[in-house]
Amino acid sequence: MKITKVKTFVLHVPITPPITDAINVATHWGLSGVRIFTDEGFVGYGYTGTCAQGDEMIVDTIDRYYAPELIGKDPFMVKEIWDSLRFGKMHWIGRAGVTHMALAAVDIALWDIMAKASNKPLWQYLGGHKSKGIKAYNTNGGWLNWSKERLLKDVTEIVEQGFTGVKIKVGKPDPREDYDRVKAVRKAIGDDVIFMIDVNQQWNVNTAMTWGKKLEEFDLFWLEEPLNPDDILGHKKLADELNVPIALGEHVYTKYAFRDYIHHGAVEYCQVDVTRVAGITEWLQVAGLAAAYDVPVCPHVGDMGQIHQHLVAATQGSIMLEYIPWIRDIFVEPATVRNGFYVLPEMPGASTEILPAYFEKYRIR
Ligand SMILES: [Mg+2]
Repeated sequence: MKITKVKTFVLHVPITPPITDAINVATHWGLSGVRIFTDEGFVGYGYTGTCAQGDEMIVDTIDRYYAPELIGKDPFMVKEIWDSLRFGKMHWIGRAGVTHMALAAVDIALWDIMAKASNKPLWQYLGGHKSKGIKAYNTNGGWLNWSKERLLKDVTEIVEQGFTGVKIKVGKPDPREDYDRVKAVRKAIGDDVIFMIDVNQQWNVNTAMTWGKKLEEFDLFWLEEPLNPDDILGHKKLADELNVPIALGEHVYTKYAFRDYIHHGAVEYCQVDVTRVAGITEWLQVAGLAAAYDVPVCPHVGDMGQIHQHLVAATQGSIMLEYIPWIRDIFVEPATVRNGFYVLPEMPGASTEILPAYFEKYRIR
């Protein structure tokens, strides 16, 4: 099989109403992606996710630097292609960020082609592990801009829908407000529901130590991204001293950075994101590394659940997956949660193919 054509796209899908966490405001979810065509008729779809900022830089990277290298290549040589792009022309100017997210879109499209050509959903093509579905936890009721009333209403409804885990955002200017919201949510959802909080890097070590200790009484399943993601030592200190496990990974870009986090005991739930580690090829290596240390893998979703459901379903040490349904409706086979579990995809591929009507409706480039 040979690659014959590479075409990029940018879609902006509205998020209604707009949401915030401690560092982001999102009115749209951006999909900067690529369709890769082959001489055997298979078309791979790959994309990365943004808060609808910087998408043009990602697809420019693909158009100018990656696409010309792909023509004529066999998609089944995905690892060789990954190495040649990772260590090619762009290596000097970008070993993370834009170039990595661009490579993720390409890599995902190649895995989509391989699974389609093998007539299997990606999770089965990768060896399959969770035929009964994947436990889901819901983040979509816990945004930082929600009033306390809305927060409590939403988390209550989420539990009524059958979810057994919820996550809310914290990182208000006054941590006492966070404490008040966490306390109220725990009371609303009861003691049996798994409950996580996400700081989105807003605290320093002292704030995280002080408020992490105060929040221990609410039996939190994890404390997510308390600090700057480059601060491995700070996270290690928190992991050593708090009775709440530390989760992170959505801003960690390489297997080497994950190695250091995991080896030093600075992360206790690995949230490796396929779009940040430049695709499925590197994601699988990080998942293997985490497995060797018995660190569970629970990928960041927001909203990349279409692809992550396949990866979690094929990973032994992966216990659950986040659910944020912002863009699910645009896909040919949308990620679906029923009674608190992801229903595993049945169509061949990575579930990344977009319905033509939505492709045109939301396309800005
Ligand atoms: Mg997060």
